[in-house]
Amino acid sequence: MPETALKTRPATTESETAVDVIGISKLFGSNQEIRALDDVSVAIRKNEFFTLLGPSGCGKTTLLRVIAGFEPPTRGSLHLGGRDISRLAPNQRPINTVFQNYALFPHMSVANNIAFGLEMLGKPKNDIRDKVTEMLQLVRMEELRSRRTSEISGGQQQRVALARALAPQPEVLLLDEPLSALDLKLRKEMQIELKRLQSETGLTFIFVTHDQEEALTMSDRIAVMNAGKILQVGSPREIYAHPSERFVANFIGESNFLNAHLSGNRVTLEAGGGTYEAVAPEGVADGKVSVLVRPEHASARPGEAAGEELAATVETVVYSGDATSLHLRLKTGETLKTKMPNGPEQSTAFGEGDAAAVTIAPGAVTILKD
Ligand code: ATP
Repeated sequence: MPETALKTRPATTESETAVDVIGISKLFGSNQEIRALDDVSVAIRKNEFFTLLGPSGCGKTTLLRVIAGFEPPTRGSLHLGGRDISRLAPNQRPINTVFQNYALFPHMSVANNIAFGLEMLGKPKNDIRDKVTEMLQLVRMEELRSRRTSEISGGQQQRVALARALAPQPEVLLLDEPLSALDLKLRKEMQIELKRLQSETGLTFIFVTHDQEEALTMSDRIAVMNAGKILQVGSPREIYAHPSERFVANFIGESNFLNAHLSGNRVTLEAGGGTYEAVAPEGVADGKVSVLVRPEHASARPGEAAGEELAATVETVVYSGDATSLHLRLKTGETLKTKMPNGPEQSTAFGEGDAAAVTIAPGAVTILKD
């Protein structure tokens, strides 16, 4: 692991805030009719890999551009390390951005691309040389330092873009879908590389993606966005296991939504079966509710339901190597997907039209705000 100056920053505790986004709204259009950000507040911690996740047009890039200073907010303010930076120009903020298209200079060498920003800052020549070498080590590109960036691969260009953005030692690195131009294999490699860079440098990374799997595997915390708002902030585990509302549950992972009745902390499904213990989110009262069950938390056996099992009919059997998914019809007419790992025998006992008896794992029922 190369010794970097970035690494020698004092360690910070998890709860220290790096970027505080306070009530930011951003309106576009001649009549300000496009609400790209709608009263967004979030505290992004020091040293964390923080991801903005959401569908196209939800406001991720706009929020990143507001943090970078490329876009003034219509309302709200932005603090960095406790200081109000809302009115600072982009180059006055200790923040750097890696863009989707990398924006490298194709006719310049790898080393000169990395040096460029430092030269613009008027750094002494010797310091620039040392810093470029250090950055090349950090992204493991020493051998290609003299190559033009038009003559290196997409993954290597990505590394150069990262090295260039890290060279001026920003406190926060913004990354706008930086892996989207790479093929799947390279994208997986760069995901690991980005995680490594983030933990070695100890910087705050704010990463934008619409790819839920990428968000789950890379992030310390995720903010799920829709229509200019942050719907939920939490660790990948929290967001997946306890989505606060239907949109979040639907956007991350596969979901079954079922009608149910809530009484205290007990849930009864309309489709029958036993009762399940679940905690109602704030604002959800006793009575009719909607619940989430992940397919991997429901299992089925062939035959008629007995006791607390749910009665179902098999509509489709989907084999995917490591697992078999069943698409089931419940007696209410609702559908339920199950996903069960395949054992070494790889046999499936189910045929279409068969009766199935479903068991939902304890603790697997999540009550949703609709
Ligand atoms: P994507 O994943 O497609 O990049 P996004 O989540 O990053 O989407 P934004 O680019 O932040 O979304 O856009 C949010 C909304 O604001 C969209 O409706 C978009 O059309 C609108 N918008 C963004 N920039 C402008 C602009 N300069 N002028 C007008 N509308 C804009």
